[in-house]
Amino acid sequence: MHPEFKKKPKVCPRCQSTALKDVYVGLPPEDIMKLAEMKTSAVTIVGCFFDSQNPSWVCQSCGYKLFKS
Ligand SMILES: [Zn+2]
Repeated sequence: MHPEFKKKPKVCPRCQSTALKDVYVGLPPEDIMKLAEMKTSAVTIVGCFFDSQNPSWVCQSCGYKLFKS
């Protein structure tokens, strides 16, 4: 079971960090790619997760995965 959220929370439910990033799965458009390369970026890119359930957001501080309901 994963925690699910209707929309992107302001802070990480686990560590209270505000460093929540939008997750793009697979190969994103080039502009998104450039965005994600910046350290302060609000997006991150992931490959495919093995469990086939991809989170909508990931906490950059603790790695907590957040799922959209
Ligand atoms: Zn966190």
